[in-house]
Amino acid sequence: MIQIQALEKRYGRFVALEGLELGVHPGETLALLGPNGAGKTTTIRAITGQLRPSRGRVLLDGLDVWRHPVAAKRRFGYVPDRPYLYGKLSAVELLRFVGRLYRMDPRAAEARIEELLAEFRLERFASALIETYSHGMRQKLTFAAALLPRPKVLIVDEPMVGLDPVAARTVRNLLRTYSKPDRAVLFSTHQLELAEAAADRVALLHEGRLRLLGTPDEVRRQHDDASLEEVFIRLTEDVTDDASAASAHPAP
Ligand code: ATP
Repeated sequence: MIQIQALEKRYGRFVALEGLELGVHPGETLALLGPNGAGKTTTIRAITGQLRPSRGRVLLDGLDVWRHPVAAKRRFGYVPDRPYLYGKLSAVELLRFVGRLYRMDPRAAEARIEELLAEFRLERFASALIETYSHGMRQKLTFAAALLPRPKVLIVDEPMVGLDPVAARTVRNLLRTYSKPDRAVLFSTHQLELAEAAADRVALLHEGRLRLLGTPDEVRRQHDDASLEEVFIRLTEDVTDDASAASAHPAP
C-alpha cells in the first residue's frame, strides 16, 4: 500500500535520507522508530507529498505521490506532528469542510462525523471554536478529520503527544486495528512499548538509513532475545562517544 523506493532527501550537502526501501502492506501496521533527527518526519513528509525527494519515489496504492498528488492524497489520512487547524471553525464545521474536500456524500459525512466525535469524546465540544480547544482536544480532532473519509492508509507522526489516558487507549487500539483486513497504518513514535503493542512490524531509522525491519518477535530473536529498547540502543548509540559500547557492539 505504501512503497518507498530508493528514497533520498538532501538538504544542501546534508543527507537526511539515503537509499530508503520500505513497504507497508495491506492489513499491516508499521511503526517507524529512530532517535531524534533520524529521518522519520522527513520520510512521512515524502510519503504525504509535502516534500520532493532528491531521488527515488513513493507509491501510495500504486500511485506516485509526487506525480499524482490529488489522486494519491484521496487515499490517505494524515495526522502530522504539529497539526494546523482553523481556529475560527468549530469541530463540526471543520469536519464538514474535510468531508466536502474528500467529496463525501453529505449524509454519509454527517453520520461519520457523529460517530467520530463520539469515539474521541468530543461531542460536548462539537460546536465550540477550535481556538478554545486544548492541545489534546486538537490532536483528537485531527484524528477524527484524518479518519473521516475512511482512508485506505492512515499515516500518523507521533500519535500520543498530548493525549490523556483514555484518548491514548483509543488511539493505540485504532493504530492496531485500523489496518485490518485490507488497509494500512504507518506511524512514527519514540514510545517503544506502543510500537510493540500496536505494530505488526517495526522499522528503525538511524542517520537517514534503515537499520532494522521486522516483527517485534523477529527483532528480539535476531538480537539474543534482547528487548526492543535494548536493540534500539545498541543500533543507534553513538559508538564514537563510547569506547566500551563500540567494543561490545561493533558497527556493521
Ligand atoms: P525527531 O524524532 O526529533 O522528530 P526525525 O526522525 O523526525 O526526528 P527529521 O525531522 O526527519 O527527524 O530530520 C532528519 C534530519 O534532517 C535532521 O538532521 C534535521 O535537522 C534535518 N532536516 C529536516 N528538515 C530540514 C530542513 N528543512 N533543512 C535542513 N535540514 C533539515
